Amino acid sequence: TYVVTDACIRCKYMDCVEVCPVDCFYEGDNMLVINPSECIDCGVCEPECPAEAILPDTESGLEKWLELNNTFSAQWPNI
Ligand code: SF4
Repeated sequence: TYVVTDACIRCKYMDCVEVCPVDCFYEGDNMLVINPSECIDCGVCEPECPAEAILPDTESGLEKWLELNNTFSAQWPNI
């Protein structure tokens, strides 16, 4: 899955949302998140993000952000 990280906070350009083929982005007050169980790992959102906030979860040190994306997307629309 891909993960939205802290560079998205108060940014929310939404370019990623428009390209995602499975609509797995969810919008919170401060940032967007990706639902890891809906993401099909296509990778098209990563280069669309002007803040470079979207990373594959294969990168190290993203455990906290993966958990946050998972939790927040499950709580949507009450993020
Ligand atoms: Fe959507 Fe593909 Fe990005 Fe996953 S990797 S969030 S499916 S655009």
